[in-house]
Amino acid sequence: MTSQSELWLGGPIASGVRCVLAPNPSAWTLEGTNTWVIGMPDSTHVVIDPGPAHAGHLSQVAAAIDGDVSAIILTHAHIDHSEGAPALSEQLNVPVMEKHDVDGLSLGDIELRMHHTPGHSSDSICITVATPEGKYLLSGDTVLGRGTTLVAHPDGRLDQYFDSLRYLRDHCEAEGIDLLLPGHGPVSRTPVGLIDFYEQHRRNRLEQVRASMASGLMTPEQIAADVYRDVDPSVLPAAELTVAAQLEYLKENI
Ligand SMILES: [Zn+2]
Repeated sequence: MTSQSELWLGGPIASGVRCVLAPNPSAWTLEGTNTWVIGMPDSTHVVIDPGPAHAGHLSQVAAAIDGDVSAIILTHAHIDHSEGAPALSEQLNVPVMEKHDVDGLSLGDIELRMHHTPGHSSDSICITVATPEGKYLLSGDTVLGRGTTLVAHPDGRLDQYFDSLRYLRDHCEAEGIDLLLPGHGPVSRTPVGLIDFYEQHRRNRLEQVRASMASGLMTPEQIAADVYRDVDPSVLPAAELTVAAQLEYLKENI
């Protein structure tokens, strides 16, 4: 796993895989949204998660395409990933694809495979990118490069999130995925270990929520303030959504 202090700037990651980091850093989005440009030089590309509707960023994304481009793909519809999609779609004259539009895509030497992985949001997908040099998993906000993600109750569900993490872990192990390419934060060279950490962290938080309830706290606001004492206060609204998802999970899984 990467250390907290490692600076993430995006850039070329592997042959056919480039990250253009969007200028929207925050406690929610880490250094900003990772916009992924996938494709070999002089061949067909796709853009995954254009990020914010920021003209300078979208120009950089367009400039990173070394060949032609066939589509824009969204890992999910949250605004920090999708807001720039209509403008970029118009600029590049290509369609925007979401979860049910496509299962797989061939870009010459690169094969993409989409996986529906609900939990962070109901529409979240992850994408396997197989190039002649390696196999990568684009994880959207299901697994981030640093910290942890939110389960955006009520659209996001914790039972689905646990199922998706298990599915992705098995997939990474079976396929020998080399790198995890997240929606925010640095790439990970240990995808299975990172996904294990995500599951363990979520289960630890669940135990903390259980303990908090046992001490008499009731509402997501009270429980989030108790359980998430260690996080930046600006992410407490996100923590409250995740606590609401945890309360629902505990109600259904006693
Ligand atoms: Zn995001």
